[in-house]
This record gives sequence, structure tokens and C-alpha cells, in this order.
Amino acid sequence: MEWQKTADAVVIGGGMMGTCTAYHLAKLGMKNVVLVEKKTVASGATGRCGAAFRAQWGSRLNIEMGKRCIDKFEHMQEETGMDIGLYQNGYLMIGYTEKEVEIFRESVALQNSMGVPSRMIDHDEARAICPGINVDDALGFSYYERDGQADPFLCNIAHQEAAKRLGVKFQKFTEVTGLKVAGGRIKGVVTSRGEIDAPVVVSAAGAWNRHIGDMAGIDFPVVGERHEALITEAVDFDVCPTMLMSFVGDYYIQQRPNGTIIAGCGPNAYTKADHDPEVMGNSWGFLERTAQVLLKVLPRTRNIGITHQWSGMYDLTPDLQPCIGETDEIKGLWLNVSGCRGFMFGAVAGELVAQMIIRGSSDLDISDFHWRRYAQGKKFKDLMVV
Ligand SMILES: Cc1cc2nc3c(=O)[nH]c(=O)nc-3n(C[C@H](O)[C@H](O)[C@H](O)COP(=O)(O)OP(=O)(O)OC[C@H]3O[C@@H](n4cnc5c(N)ncnc54)[C@H](O)[C@@H]3O)c2cc1C
Repeated sequence: MEWQKTADAVVIGGGMMGTCTAYHLAKLGMKNVVLVEKKTVASGATGRCGAAFRAQWGSRLNIEMGKRCIDKFEHMQEETGMDIGLYQNGYLMIGYTEKEVEIFRESVALQNSMGVPSRMIDHDEARAICPGINVDDALGFSYYERDGQADPFLCNIAHQEAAKRLGVKFQKFTEVTGLKVAGGRIKGVVTSRGEIDAPVVVSAAGAWNRHIGDMAGIDFPVVGERHEALITEAVDFDVCPTMLMSFVGDYYIQQRPNGTIIAGCGPNAYTKADHDPEVMGNSWGFLERTAQVLLKVLPRTRNIGITHQWSGMYDLTPDLQPCIGETDEIKGLWLNVSGCRGFMFGAVAGELVAQMIIRGSSDLDISDFHWRRYAQGKKFKDLMVV
């Protein structure tokens, strides 16, 4: 790829958040957009994620983002011209404590008031939705059938190809090593292959965003946290026909359209959180704990072979919520980080950031996602988080 020394905007990071931002900048008419990626598209957390999306959140802004993200996934093939492996098999939230079930109940009421027809269901309906599930010790459930999953590689690559058709240049295997700043304005990026001058730079580097902020002396409130996942061999499709998720139970389980089952649990269960985004690797502890969860929640998974185990970096923020906006310190420098849901929020967040950059405002007010909330002593509250 020919090297361009100038651009109207540089996007750092070729995951879902960055690729969708670049795509939407070009779609809104920006002519000269360059995306810089130190490895390949989907090589970060996006290509290692659980592939799920949902509108079952617990705050107005996240529910609105979730609603919009479902619309995006439902129209992604039409929008990008590529099959994205969409599969809307619903999300079954499983509550094990009175407190958790109360959170589900309040969240469902809020979701319903915003046009998301999710519902609380009982044990019998949970068993009807997912035959073979063992939920004797659960206390309550919420369910929404339009929640679902899609293939993260296909979604990411679909946006890359659509962005390329609109003229976006992808500079891969190119690492941003510095930011050019003068007079309180961003002037461009320094990379392992040369410099690019640009009046707008969007940092969409997932768990690596902190390093980008450090280059300009700005504290981007993001750390990486290593999470593992596994996938089984393909089995009868009705073993887990819906996505299962529990916050207190600390697990998610879902069956892909090809019959394989993806499962994961939080790092506390298997290893001390690892915050170095370069450290991947797998642990026996994770395998043991997740196998126990699978056997307990889905007894039919006994004797199913596990074919692959991997890890990826959550883009962790202090309140586990997105941090999106232009920096107060350096005009033209933007942060677009999802707070651990960049696969599902990527297309919506990318569009909103592009609108703000090009039009000065977005059609959804996401100012509550600006990380200046931390300096003001505030946190964004949504209890429907992993
Ligand atoms: C096991 C697991 C399960 C998950 N499950 C889900 C799920 O079901 N649904 C969901 O929505 N989310 C899920 N997530 C979270 C989700 O994967 C991330 O929030 C999302 O992928 C972040 O997208 P991103 O584009 O911000 O970052 P990434 O996909 O990590 O992309 C960032 C990119 O920036 C590049 N980069 C970094 N530094 C530089 C630099 N200096 N120069 C150039 N490029 C750079 C990296 O190489 C990388 O490709 C999961 C994550 C994990 C690990």
C-alpha cells in the first residue's frame, strides 16, 4: 500500500471500533481517511470475542445503543455487501440471587419502556427455550429473542471492504509510535513506517488505548484484562439453542450456527487478572472452571470435546462503560473505546463518532460516555455488565 503523508483523519486500530469509525467517516463524505493497524484487521479483541450482542442493558443510554446495534447487525449484510453470519437466537439471562433478579426486573421494565419487548420468564419457559438446561438453583430469568450473535471476523472484514470501496486506506503491520501535537491541536501520527499529518486522529486501539494516550501525555482510562474462551466440537444444534449468561454465575455459553459451543467465564475464576495487552496464553484453571460450568448448566455437554481455547484483551474502563469523545486537552484527538462490548457497539459507536467529527454533533447524545465523568467524581451506572 502506497504511503500517504497527509490525511483528513487517521484512525488507530483495525478492530470493530476503528474499522467502523473509518467506514462511517468515509460514508459521511470524508475523502482521505487512513486506518493504521499494527497487525491485521480483527487481530485484537474483536477476533477473539464471544460474538454476542444484546439490548438487555440496565441504563437508558446502553439500551438505546443496544437497540441501535441490533438494527445495525440486522442490516449489516445489506450495508456492507457481505454475509456476517448473523444468528438471532436470543439471550437468556440467568439470575442466582434475589438482588440479581431484581436488577433483571428493573432492567426489563426500563427496556420495555424504551420499546424493547424483553420479558421476565419462569423456570418452565427457560427450560422450553433451552431444553436440557439445569437451572434448579436459579431464581429468575430475563429473555429477549432479538439479541443474538454474528461472526466477528466477517463483521470486521465486511466493514473493512466497505470502507475500502469508499476510499479508506488501510495501512496494516504499521504501528503508531507517537502523536504529533502543536498548540493544543493534534497534527498527525508517527508510525513505524513514516509520519501522516492529519487534523483528526481517532484512537480506537482497544486495550492498547492507554499507550496511545501516553504518547500525548493524556491519561486514557483503559487497561487490558485477559479473558479466556473455549469452543467445543460441533454437536446437535439443540444442545444450547439460545445464549446463556449469568453475572453472578460468571459465565456465558452459546452455540454457533455450525453446532460448536463457545463458553467463557471471568478471569477471577482461573487466574489473577493480567493487564499487559501483549500477554495472551491459556490456563488449565480456566479449562477446569469452564468445564465445570458447562457440566452443571448444560449436562448434555458431558463428553463433548473441546477443540480450541484462546484469550483476548478486554478494554476495561473504571466503570466498565464506554469512553467516547474528543479529548479536552488536545483538539482533534478522539478516543473511541467500548468498555468491553466493542464487537456489539462498534458499528453504532463508529457512526456516532463520525457524526460528531464531521457535523459537530451526533443524533444520539452520548456525552455521558465522555471520560471527564471520572474527573468529576462520577461513574456511569449500569448493573447489567459481565
Ligand atoms: C473472550 C472475550 C469475549 C468477549 N465477548 C464479547 C461479546 O460477546 N460481545 C462484545 O460486544 N464484546 C465482547 N468482548 C469484548 C470485545 O471483544 C472488545 O470490546 C472489542 O473487540 C474491542 O474492539 P476494539 O476495536 O476497540 O479493539 P480491538 O479489536 O482490540 O482492536 C484494537 C486494534 O488496535 C491495534 N493497535 C493497538 N495499538 C496500536 C498501535 N500503537 N498502532 C496501530 N494499531 C494498534 C491492535 O493491533 C488491534 O487490532 C469479548 C472480549 C473477549 C476477550
